[in-house]
Amino acid sequence: MVLLCPVQSWTPIGTTMQITKITTHVLKTPLGKERFYSSQAAFPERTSLLVRLETDTGLVGWGEGGQYGPPEPVAACIHAVLGSQVLGSDPRKPAVLWERLYSMIRDFGQKGPYLEAISAIDIACWDLLGQATWLPVHTLLGGAFRESVTAYATGCYYRGEHAFGVSEEALQTLADEARSYVEDGFRILKIKLGLLSIEADVRRIEVIREAIGPNVTLLADANHAYNVSNALRVGRELERLDVRWFEEPIVPEDLEGYRHLRQKLAIPIAGGECEYTRYGFRNLFAQGCVDIAQPDLCCAGGFSEFLKIQALALAHHTPVIPHVWGSGIALATALHALAATPWQPYTYLPVALQNEPVVEYDRNPNPLRDDILEQPFKLVEGKVAVPSGPGLGVTVIGPKLDKFTVTRQESKSS
Ligand code: CA
Repeated sequence: MVLLCPVQSWTPIGTTMQITKITTHVLKTPLGKERFYSSQAAFPERTSLLVRLETDTGLVGWGEGGQYGPPEPVAACIHAVLGSQVLGSDPRKPAVLWERLYSMIRDFGQKGPYLEAISAIDIACWDLLGQATWLPVHTLLGGAFRESVTAYATGCYYRGEHAFGVSEEALQTLADEARSYVEDGFRILKIKLGLLSIEADVRRIEVIREAIGPNVTLLADANHAYNVSNALRVGRELERLDVRWFEEPIVPEDLEGYRHLRQKLAIPIAGGECEYTRYGFRNLFAQGCVDIAQPDLCCAGGFSEFLKIQALALAHHTPVIPHVWGSGIALATALHALAATPWQPYTYLPVALQNEPVVEYDRNPNPLRDDILEQPFKLVEGKVAVPSGPGLGVTVIGPKLDKFTVTRQESKSS
């Protein structure tokens, strides 16, 4: 018999396996003149937190968390609190480890950095489980419904000298940017709103719609810029401009407001990137808050929790389209989850966005996504391929990662 896989990368299931070292990488890279703004904040740099789990078999798994806010608190949660339970655990039992870690922090950390830390560890465990069994994560999640995913461009942020106004020059630049995504092969474009006055933002969308024509699908994301009454006003304008979803119109805590908007507006309401775990999403679904749920696997609880959130979503007939930000590890994670996501609902010929999930493909400069993997992601005919190798199916380039690492911290088995 010929063993086709390298011996050092293969561990038969059933033998023991233990996590022996946790390394966190706080990543930062300044954007210089390419800084951009959402309704909430300036983005002068890209940041994230990668977790590397090493095992006694020599296999190494990667996970990501901490890509929303400062990554340092997430690293602290890992090394100061969770690490003692992670070290010595078998990474091939990610759901078991998840429950143990969540029970440690339930009393004080049900959302935020602790969940980002658990997410990163969980993703790395699934990466290891896949490598140990020589299977891609999407197979372990139940199997792939698709080998590639239609990508939507996230772009048309508020940029540079034109960030805060709608001069003729600013609008021309915006139109050029929108057209460039169509030229790159995208058929779906998500744009930002909420930083400027409603009138100015509507003008921006009118210009974008005119630039891309009626056959490219538009989505809009307010990053919770509005109260309910203003969101109603904006929502009606978006309906007029044939925008197909209104993302995070209001703050994530206002579940009653979400339900109200959903009842009053025809445009689908998307949300959930700031929500965590099965418990948070249970509330969104049970109260009828969203038409599209957007868990971010690097925040909401990793693959283990995604399976629970997805089951809740399916039971509430709500499509799941994960939010994606961060590095190439985050994109690989989302692609495995999307591969294993059923059609909502089933049809013989699924249509992207209608009942076939799509992947968020941020078009802002992001070296953390584009430069650290041996297998960089590419857009081919508007789609991104799902990695097919064992585990996450991606390989981190050490020297490239070191270039972006500002703090590296280790915890080891004693
Ligand atoms: Ca968003």
